Amino acid sequence: MDDSTSRIYLSSPHMGGKELDYIHDAFKKNWIAPLGENVDQFEKNLQDYTGRSHAAVVTSGTAAMHLGLILCGLQAGDEVICQSLTFAATANPIRYQGATPIFIDSEPETWNMDPQLLEHAILDRMEKNGETAGKPKAIIVVHLYGMPAKVDDILKVARKFDIPVIEDAAEALGSSAGGKRCGNFGELSVLSFNGNKIITTSGGGALLGDQKELISKARFLATQARDKAPHYQHSELGYNYRMSNIVAGIGRGQIKVLDEHIAARRSNHDYYFEQLNGNWLDSDSAETGQGIGFKARMATSGIYFLKEPEGHFSNRWLTTVLVNPQETGGVTREDIRQALEEENIECRPLWKPMHMQPLYSDFPYYGNGISDKLFECGLCLPSGSNLSSSDRQRIVSVIHDLLD
Ligand SMILES: *Cc1c(COP(=O)(O)O)cnc(C)c1O
Repeated sequence: MDDSTSRIYLSSPHMGGKELDYIHDAFKKNWIAPLGENVDQFEKNLQDYTGRSHAAVVTSGTAAMHLGLILCGLQAGDEVICQSLTFAATANPIRYQGATPIFIDSEPETWNMDPQLLEHAILDRMEKNGETAGKPKAIIVVHLYGMPAKVDDILKVARKFDIPVIEDAAEALGSSAGGKRCGNFGELSVLSFNGNKIITTSGGGALLGDQKELISKARFLATQARDKAPHYQHSELGYNYRMSNIVAGIGRGQIKVLDEHIAARRSNHDYYFEQLNGNWLDSDSAETGQGIGFKARMATSGIYFLKEPEGHFSNRWLTTVLVNPQETGGVTREDIRQALEEENIECRPLWKPMHMQPLYSDFPYYGNGISDKLFECGLCLPSGSNLSSSDRQRIVSVIHDLLD
């Protein structure tokens, strides 16, 4: 296929060039398994980048979340507060432990967990189930699409009730809020290096924290929880979750180009904003509690973008837009998605909230309608750091044809 019809992906792997050097090095020293220098150095890279004191690299972001919840002492029957608008991998590990997720809706300024609903939910759980027994064991906050959540407000609520926060920063490596990088908020943070993330090791993840004992415990649990003994002895339930030295070599190469990837993804976002005659979502509507604020400029396209709130820096992992059919002459999100698909261009609706998922619809949910609305009219546009300028032109011209 020639360039003008070949498939454009939503977010594809983008190697920097140095990855193979680290893999070759591991081969040369026969450090194929189990651990080794690449693992140690990649962990150090992640600590340096995020500002965290300790990091353990593992097989996936999902595994990191599972370990994080175990470290919070999560047991069957416990409750965990979790953002509803997210990928299922945020919530599934709660179920691995036999615990119950309590889903919380988003606020309109970052599309992440609403701090007021969070407080309301905690109080309500404690009222229903008792002051001590009813207190959730952890709070999982997500920075969707790279946009940092309102972490200060969330942490304030969490401190008030003395509940640990696990930060799902899988989509937000390189983002920051108030000058502090994502991956460095709350008790523990989760990163992912899955194939579509801003840097990838083909598959992988990390658990970060500031307490040495916690991250050491994570490493212990991730390597089958072997007691110190010459024979194989186990007192605790372990897992096989540790990242291999080969895979970590890819990570060492990728972290070198992370800042370039962020710049490229932010440039995609700005390009779409300009070319699609974008509007910023009205953040005042958040203050007045009016939900998603469509407030168009004069010559409007009906395509809305999410502004970075004061002090927030997004890596713009994926460029997301909201489509308001009342201003597009009836063209919906789905019309745009299908038109792009017909031209062999991949794009996706926003995450389907957990409270709307068949797997999770019976679990407690504290809502305000925001994530339902985002799912209804939101779209993720191709956002890879390796998109060419002709790719980007191809994408916007399909949308222009549809809107004209
Ligand atoms: C990708 C992702 C995960 C899971 O990471 P894996 O490495 O794929 O297991 C978790 N949460 C969010 C928000 C993600 O986007």
